[in-house]
Amino acid sequence: MYENEKTLILDRKYTCPVCDKQITSKAVKANSAKFVDTKADLRPVHSNVNVTKYDAICCPNCGFAALTKNFTNTTQIQRKLLREGIQANYKSHEETPCEVYTTEQAISRMKMVLLCTITKQAKDSEIGNVCLKISWLYQDLADELDENDPNAETKRANYLTEAKNAAMNAYGHLSNARMHENFPIAGMNETTLDYLLSYLAYEKGEYQTAMQLLSGVVTNRSTSPRLKDKSLELKDLLSAKLHADS
Ligand SMILES: [Zn+2]
Repeated sequence: MYENEKTLILDRKYTCPVCDKQITSKAVKANSAKFVDTKADLRPVHSNVNVTKYDAICCPNCGFAALTKNFTNTTQIQRKLLREGIQANYKSHEETPCEVYTTEQAISRMKMVLLCTITKQAKDSEIGNVCLKISWLYQDLADELDENDPNAETKRANYLTEAKNAAMNAYGHLSNARMHENFPIAGMNETTLDYLLSYLAYEKGEYQTAMQLLSGVVTNRSTSPRLKDKSLELKDLLSAKLHADS
């Protein structure tokens, strides 16, 4: 999708915390992604690379996979759960060399992260964060469709259904995290998370909940101007829905 993507990617070495083997994973070079904007569900857009594709580290030896920021911080109990629940059934393999990850590859890697995140009984914030990234990647896949593909519309509908399902899973887990965990949650401060939950509630059709969450964001003085703009856009969408319902 991006012309020079491979020039922005490097192989990073890690030691797998579950099987202790040396592995490599592709990563975006520091400070090379050019940020453009975030979509309404906070999906980041960069002009030269899709950073979400490189946020999963997967061990081809034991099957352990995690988001980059969570890869090294497993507990002893979690490593035991992963050895029993993932490694015991995993067929180790040599990875096929490639220059970049396709979005399809990135989705299967991120699904492996989800499986491991659930297996190690991670916190809701971590599970919700992974679900959100799966949702983003399916939307990226829909965006990449070739208009000349005769099946483009069917594929788009399928990808967007997958994106919505993942987003609704994210909504459930992040709402639980909001009640039981301390900030930052999935890397978000309170106003950012409340904005995201409001948007996901809107997607789910829970307009009252969405509006309640959003009023807190709009009136909070610590809300950044960028987030405030997004909140006002969402408020317009919500007002239209609530008006149509009444
Ligand atoms: Zn491993």
